[in-house]
Amino acid sequence: MMELRKPYIIPVNDHVWLLDDDHMASCYVIDGTRQAAVIDTSIGLSNIQEAAESLTSLPLLCINTHGHEDHMGGNWSFDKAYMNLADLPLAEGWINGPEVREGIEQFGIHFPPFEHIEDGQIFDLGGITLEAVYFPGHTAGEIVLLDREDRILFSGDGIIEHLWLQLEESLPLRVQIDSMKKLLPLRNSFDTILHGHCQSPCGAELFDTLLAALEDLAAGNTADDIDYEWLGFVSKAHPYQPNNRRIVYKS
Ligand SMILES: [Zn+2]
Repeated sequence: MMELRKPYIIPVNDHVWLLDDDHMASCYVIDGTRQAAVIDTSIGLSNIQEAAESLTSLPLLCINTHGHEDHMGGNWSFDKAYMNLADLPLAEGWINGPEVREGIEQFGIHFPPFEHIEDGQIFDLGGITLEAVYFPGHTAGEIVLLDREDRILFSGDGIIEHLWLQLEESLPLRVQIDSMKKLLPLRNSFDTILHGHCQSPCGAELFDTLLAALEDLAAGNTADDIDYEWLGFVSKAHPYQPNNRRIVYKS
């Protein structure tokens, strides 16, 4: 059996937990009264299902914010996983790649079927509802999930300090801005943002500062932009404050 690590579990409140998987990615467990949701599963080197079962005895729903491997890679421990199927080619491209195929054969794991998430779909956990909102930009199939009861927005890689829009699969800047603006009517429904790489909760101001920075970038204010190296490639980054945040974009 594959040697698995355990995520570091940080309580957000008495029924929401952040699972920090070795600072590679963060997953979340939200416990209702009838079922519990697991949002994202990291890269697949931790058993996120087992970690979730240490927090709740309710049936688990596995929900992916998008199809990148550092978020859906751990789906193998579940029987079914939800995803916006616009990201299915991304997820399948990784699952069917040689490295993963080798791991699948060696360890006898399998990836579950993906069930499509509709825009506006509600996941009713009992006492807590998660509303999925399509949020194309970082990827075509990115979603965010609003927990109105806890006033938390789970934002995957869609609303994050260092936003990556430079990837081949990322959509144009205006699409990201449209996604942000589509969320404006819900802006007063959350105080906390829990994104796909959080090590502690973020304030909702992240949404406001990111939207302002995206509009600044779209207006062509790029004089302070810098080169940004990632995975052997170079792209451009638009810095914004506070704390030297970045929007990385196609150059
Ligand atoms: Zn991503």
